[in-house]
Amino acid sequence: MTAGFHGERLKKARHHLATQKLEALLVAKPENRRYLSGFTGDAGMLLVAPGNAVLFTDGRYQEQARLEAPNWELIIYKGSFIEALAEICTELRLQEIGFEKDYLTYQQFEKLQEHLPHVALRPVTGLIEKLRLIKDVREISLIQEAAVITGAALWYLLGALKYGQPEQEVAGILEFFMRRHGGGLPAFETIVAAGERGALPHGIASEQRIRRGQLVVIDLGASYQGYAADLTRTICLGRIDARQREIYEVVREAQACALAKIRPGVRAGEVDAAAREFLAARGYGEYFSHALGHGVGLSVHEEPRLAARQETVLEPGMVVTVEPGVYLPGWGGVRIEDTVLIAQNGYEILTPVTKDLLVI
Ligand code: ZN
Ligand code: ZN
Repeated sequence: MTAGFHGERLKKARHHLATQKLEALLVAKPENRRYLSGFTGDAGMLLVAPGNAVLFTDGRYQEQARLEAPNWELIIYKGSFIEALAEICTELRLQEIGFEKDYLTYQQFEKLQEHLPHVALRPVTGLIEKLRLIKDVREISLIQEAAVITGAALWYLLGALKYGQPEQEVAGILEFFMRRHGGGLPAFETIVAAGERGALPHGIASEQRIRRGQLVVIDLGASYQGYAADLTRTICLGRIDARQREIYEVVREAQACALAKIRPGVRAGEVDAAAREFLAARGYGEYFSHALGHGVGLSVHEEPRLAARQETVLEPGMVVTVEPGVYLPGWGGVRIEDTVLIAQNGYEILTPVTKDLLVI
């Protein structure tokens, strides 16, 4: 009944429900909703049942929902979504529905209970996310496009950067470039962290001005038709000292160690360990304070996590970041990050920017 790649995804979702012996699933998380149905509106929920695929939304999205999710049964609710849902549950004689426990609020849960007294509510987690782990060809091409826009923005910045510019202005240049070249909203708030602020792994751009001799950590990501890319480079302004160069090279080697591990069949934790052990051997272990990477897709942070002891086995079609860093309080930081596709024989870097230390 539902055509194209969304139909394939719906089929897989139903198969998953069946293996969990779950009658129906309420999908509230925006990325999951978009993944299954194609609907991109801000408000709405899906109900996936064996013979039905229902999209609930309100009047503002009627036309958009019809265009984006033509094969879904569309229900435009006037008052409350939950009353509309209760009606459908009665109509379909559903006795149990699953809900996304890591997304629905407690208040929404209480309302569901109140309006669906005869329906058992089963908390589930990661069900649609599991499908999203492996990207299909179309998804990969959208991430690729996001990555190309992201890389181009960084290249553009290298020619536009001036001493004395506030970090915020630098972030603005990057974000404007990405939007002008087809990107949607940035996939996340752009990080521009100069000098000592580079020791904050998530130091979003501040009013501080960038000075000569500082390392600057720049972490940016375009989105393209909902799909994210994620790229970090650390650059240097004007001149570089020996310590800055040494730490840069150590991080670059740590990333190379991790990349060398990546191929189908390897556990995510092993890739993290490769970078972590290298940094520890060089005396920087305690300064690498976060996981090596994360999945990228409709969300900029999704499964699989490349982190210590993660058992997920890498498979072709997964897209992850590889982003070791060293952060020294009072000194600054270096991070190098690429978005990487797991390929049949290894990997492919999607963020096409040199890793030679750039001194501007
Ligand atoms: Zn990043
Ligand atoms: Zn990242």
